[in-house]
Amino acid sequence: MPADSSHPFPLDPVVLGQLACPACLGVLRVDEDRLVCAGCGRGYPIVDGIPVLITERAVLGDNT
Ligand SMILES: [Zn+2]
Repeated sequence: MPADSSHPFPLDPVVLGQLACPACLGVLRVDEDRLVCAGCGRGYPIVDGIPVLITERAVLGDNT
């Protein structure tokens, strides 16, 4: 068991910078265990460190 678990989500920021929301091509940011689009507010799950950028799997944000 690793003592340092400060990075439970080790997604490479360089990779993150190349990703875009498949729905609106907005900028994605990390929010805990998912990626949240700054454009449309959709939240994409991250499975085993890999973002699932599928619109059908996205959770619509309710922060209008
Ligand atoms: Zn979007």
